[in-house]
Amino acid sequence: MTRLFLLAALALVLPQIAVAQPPPPETPVFDLHVHIWRGAQSIREYEAQLRETNQGVTRFGGLHMAVGPGQLDEMRAKNDELLALARTHPSLLPIPSVHPYDGAAAIAELRRLAAAGVRAIKLHPHTQQFDVTDPRVLTLVQEAGTLGVVVMMDNANIIPGDSENLFNLAVRAPRTKFLFAHLGGMNFRFWNIIPLARTTRDFWPDNLWFDISALVVLAADSPIEAELVWTMRNVGIDRLLLGSDYPQLSLAQSVQALDRLDLTPEERAQIRYGNAERLLLGARE
Ligand SMILES: [Zn+2]
Repeated sequence: MTRLFLLAALALVLPQIAVAQPPPPETPVFDLHVHIWRGAQSIREYEAQLRETNQGVTRFGGLHMAVGPGQLDEMRAKNDELLALARTHPSLLPIPSVHPYDGAAAIAELRRLAAAGVRAIKLHPHTQQFDVTDPRVLTLVQEAGTLGVVVMMDNANIIPGDSENLFNLAVRAPRTKFLFAHLGGMNFRFWNIIPLARTTRDFWPDNLWFDISALVVLAADSPIEAELVWTMRNVGIDRLLLGSDYPQLSLAQSVQALDRLDLTPEERAQIRYGNAERLLLGARE
């Protein structure tokens, strides 16, 4: 009876153990852009979708956007939750967040996160309702540069002047590495300024990386695909990272869209994993 019960219990548990992890991808994949809205539950749902879509992932950047300003306890609690999740999910790279308008408290939290080993933070001017040109934003991102923390910022161009303001912020914080999400969205054409900026002397810090989340899904097999690929090469293939923007889109959609772009296998491999590894897992400069 006991043995039967044990066997029955094992039969229930074993399949769950067997499917607990999504399948490893055939080639490494780094999903830079995974929204962790509800802690461990979000990760479970993300992993379930990976299994359902037969898509593996090697590492993924789990992020949230800090509330506030003025909600410091909640900001720290959400960041701590993300750091704790990273300890139990080795494939999760935590990308926590602060609110720039918290000023000195935001700087203190940034320093605490950097000391805890955080490699990147996420800021979202639209969701967090801050103005990129506010001096508190510059102070914060300059400190991130000093600490060797990459600043990931939304760049979907839902705010007028989004890319222009981010360009100027990057110029004013030359020691900071920025990762702009969505490569400017449908205004991606703006970033073809970069090869021209590179021709200037002592002006352009060349401190920009981009994720192509969402935009890649929209552009693959579309009338703008060739222009996007041209833009990607102008920006620099070595500056581009893949992301899903889960839960809005799945990683499988993003990987399949990247596969449909007219790129070489080497270029795709760089975007799928190598660039993110160098930017976020390599030695701090
Ligand atoms: Zn997003």
